Amino acid sequence: MTSAALRSRAWKLLGMVTTPLLPSDYLDLVSPLRAGADLRGRIEAVHPETGDAATVVIRPGRGWRGHTAGQYVRIGVDVDGVRLWRAYSITSPTNRRDGRVTITVKAIPDGKVSSYLVRRANPGTLIELDQPTGDFVLPQAKPAKVLYLTAGSGITPVMACCATSSSTTSSWSTARHSRRM
Ligand SMILES: Cc1cc2nc3c(=O)[nH]c(=O)nc-3n(C[C@H](O)[C@H](O)[C@H](O)COP(=O)(O)OP(=O)(O)OC[C@H]3O[C@@H](n4cnc5c(N)ncnc54)[C@H](O)[C@@H]3O)c2cc1C
Repeated sequence: MTSAALRSRAWKLLGMVTTPLLPSDYLDLVSPLRAGADLRGRIEAVHPETGDAATVVIRPGRGWRGHTAGQYVRIGVDVDGVRLWRAYSITSPTNRRDGRVTITVKAIPDGKVSSYLVRRANPGTLIELDQPTGDFVLPQAKPAKVLYLTAGSGITPVMACCATSSSTTSSWSTARHSRRM
């Protein structure tokens, strides 16, 4: 019997012991960010930026494929026992050495997830993650100069673009931002 077949048989036997849960449910308790698990992230820090905005530092699980500057990620957060999914632009550069990513969230009045992330989320909290997505990215052939015009929370993807291009390319990035649309 091959080692793969042996492993699969052992896994099935283990499943009989742990039923109605799966062996992976127990593994999730000790190693939720492991390769092969559902993609999750661990909140490692929440840095206040203003009275109603904060940057959330997330350590993604092993299955994270990495983002392109300008993309966003959907996150699943448990708020008062309910799993809620929202999209947030990734604000960290693509080449961050520690492998963490950041999102910058503005708490909106009565907003469930944004208020939770800015005011209540603690380091150690696990969240669900989707792979990063979105087309608001620079072309492969980098232009010599880039002008970004942003308003409101539209600044967040541009934070990643500017941080990435200032460290990896010789492009000049200029950003003009208005607080309101
Ligand atoms: C691609 C993308 C990128 C984004 N990037 C960012 C980002 O970088 N930073 C950022 O801060 N946000 C970003 N957002 C917005 C973000 O996804 C959330 O929409 C935002 O944080 C609000 O979510 P919430 O759960 O706090 O609000 P919700 O709880 O969804 O509420 C939103 C508003 O609707 C009202 N509301 C909710 N339910 C009802 C109801 N039943 N009746 C009447 N009114 C109701 C609430 O009072 C609130 O004002 C992005 C969105 C997209 C699509």
